Amino acid sequence: MRQKAVSIDVTNRCNLRCRHCFFWRTNSSGELPVEAWEEVFQRLPKFFYCSWVGGEPLLRQELIERGKKRFLLNEVVTNGTIPIPSWNDVSFFISIDGTKRYHELIRGRGTYARARENIETTGARYLLLNMVINSLNYRCVEKFVSEWSNSRVLWVKFSFYTPFVGGDNSLFLPFAKRNELIDKVLRPLKEDYGDFIFLSDGILESMKYPGCLKVASNCPATRLVLSLDSMGNIKYRGCGDTRACYMGAGAICEKCGHMTPHYLKAIYEDGDWEIIRKSLKHMPRGVALKAVRSLLPKGHRPGRQNT
Ligand code: SF4
Ligand code: SF4
Repeated sequence: MRQKAVSIDVTNRCNLRCRHCFFWRTNSSGELPVEAWEEVFQRLPKFFYCSWVGGEPLLRQELIERGKKRFLLNEVVTNGTIPIPSWNDVSFFISIDGTKRYHELIRGRGTYARARENIETTGARYLLLNMVINSLNYRCVEKFVSEWSNSRVLWVKFSFYTPFVGGDNSLFLPFAKRNELIDKVLRPLKEDYGDFIFLSDGILESMKYPGCLKVASNCPATRLVLSLDSMGNIKYRGCGDTRACYMGAGAICEKCGHMTPHYLKAIYEDGDWEIIRKSLKHMPRGVALKAVRSLLPKGHRPGRQNT
């Protein structure tokens, strides 16, 4: 299957120094000027989806503003501490790692209130939260969901902390605990909060140990996502591995907790309609039909009899 999406490290810079971050410890290259990125965009094949990541991508808004026109769907992954631009053709994935206490243990003092204020004051509509569950914050998942359930946020999604070479790997949540959290906390939350929880039964099952090892060993993200660093170069998994990963060379695949490989598997390999429906529900206007078409085999049109 050909690549569907591109992930772009907008910058290496970040205004925070989060405890769990692999990025500022492992990435040291510079950043390509905006004009040079224009040339990279020209050379890229036609991608449906672009994920603008970092560092903190909102430190370089000009690049995103110029580049986002080239993709049907854009997401910006931000720590939320910089005012969020009022773009309604973009989904903002804001990283909030639990309730204020746990979030600030990981991301630093004052970061929770700033993110909350920026979420409340932006004119942007497509606001989504991303919580990375680790050995510190796993106790607050229910309270975190309850606190945000009456906010402007459309839904929340979850990953588990991925250890990386040289990182603070005490944050890794043991697999037995991950399985328990999935069954005893995330599944009931999905029942109670419905579409506010951006998960499907299929994804939850896929993220459990030991099935998650099988997904990591043939990771869909390496096949379906072109991952570029801030110089426009492909981000390889390291140690001579010719496969790319947006997490870069330091991430330890066997313990990967990122939701994206399981999400991609659910969408492109399993045809998981629970997560496809949830994805379509909050896509910017006009994009959903094109998204459905991109999932169908070539030549197939919705509403047309295909023989
Ligand atoms: S905000 Fe993101 S890029 Fe910046 S230090 Fe935290 S996790 Fe790393
Ligand atoms: S670290 Fe990257 S390549 Fe490895 S399983 Fe996770 S997303 Fe896939």
